[in-house]
Amino acid sequence: MDSDGEDEPLRGFGSRAIRAGQSWGCEQENSEPIYTTSSFRFTSASEAAARFAGEQPGNVYSRFTNPTVDTFCQRLAALEGGEAAVGTASGMSAVLATTMGLLSAGDHIVASKTLFGTTLSLFTNHLPRFGIEVSWVPLTDEQAWREALRPDTRMLFAETPSNPLNDVVDIASLAGIAHDAGALLVVDNCFCTPALQRPLEHGADLVVHSATKYLDGQGRCVGGAVVGDQQLVGEQIHGFIRTAGPSMSPFNAWVFLKGLETLALRMQAHCERAQQVAEWLQSCSRVNKVYYAGLPDHPAHELARRQQDGYGGIVAFEVDGGRSAAWQVIDATRMLSITANLGDAKSTITHPATTTHGTISEEQRQAAGISEGLVRVSVGLEDAEDIIADIGRGLTCL
Ligand SMILES: *Cc1c(COP(=O)(O)O)cnc(C)c1O
Repeated sequence: MDSDGEDEPLRGFGSRAIRAGQSWGCEQENSEPIYTTSSFRFTSASEAAARFAGEQPGNVYSRFTNPTVDTFCQRLAALEGGEAAVGTASGMSAVLATTMGLLSAGDHIVASKTLFGTTLSLFTNHLPRFGIEVSWVPLTDEQAWREALRPDTRMLFAETPSNPLNDVVDIASLAGIAHDAGALLVVDNCFCTPALQRPLEHGADLVVHSATKYLDGQGRCVGGAVVGDQQLVGEQIHGFIRTAGPSMSPFNAWVFLKGLETLALRMQAHCERAQQVAEWLQSCSRVNKVYYAGLPDHPAHELARRQQDGYGGIVAFEVDGGRSAAWQVIDATRMLSITANLGDAKSTITHPATTTHGTISEEQRQAAGISEGLVRVSVGLEDAEDIIADIGRGLTCL
């Protein structure tokens, strides 16, 4: 088997998204095969012994490695600019493997308050049971990140842009703060994907993904990934995954591979439509505020323009009239899907205060800027005029 791009590295992001990591089998297939096998055969007992001992490279068992998953990992690593990647069963198991693979009891994490709800819950309700403590800071307050550091701080964990208000942190500054303290910076790059933002280029040590969202992009599979260097990801985090077992399935890896092929085109289209939706919402008198970094008056506009190659597909807006007005807008839609998922070709609409942020306290919600009138739209790939018309049904400003 030979591998594309081995002799000559592929320069363009689009080329890597289509070609990186593919190895050709003996059937002259053009699309990547799916290796749906749990185990692999050895030609002799001595080969089996050498593989198990790690003295000979090669597959043993699909909880450890699988060729389809490897192709996905190599391709994602090539897009993020990392040495190594691992595939996981979900985005949450990517977060779990990053913490369990690298930290021990007595270690401390500093994390942004605006993390994805389930990551918040993992860090609040589960990691402390294993002796790992977490301190919370506002994403954009660099002084707060610095002040939260302790001698036992091993990891800074941030999600940028934030969900759902699109706040942005300067990754290079945060990497500096982490490294001065001898800690690692982990960035959840779910909202931007490597098509719009490559945190490793700005100094982050690790990138985690929910592949469920834009990497698939068509709402078909649950999966995740971690990208970074060979030691942290290829050895330590992969070591945890092959033992603990939250490995990615070959079929899901294949779906994500096909998603990566169109990632750059899709992200560009999401951005274009989101910009149009945000601008239209801003012109609507029933809307108090629109949160999209592509709008010049968003506080993160300048930083996002420097750090990202686009402003992403998530638009949040506050409707005049609180919860009942927000629910009215949601219930009046006919095309948009009422679901808290995001990153799909299908546009989705949700009320964060009673769904994604429903279980946190009213005080935490206030601190996170999640008002009762807030609505979040994950702008899909339908035509912008149809998305706008659908959001506009419950707003009288169309
Ligand atoms: C969805 C999501 C996750 C978790 O991913 P799953 O695939 O649902 O486990 C983590 N981070 C962010 C930002 C997400 O949106």
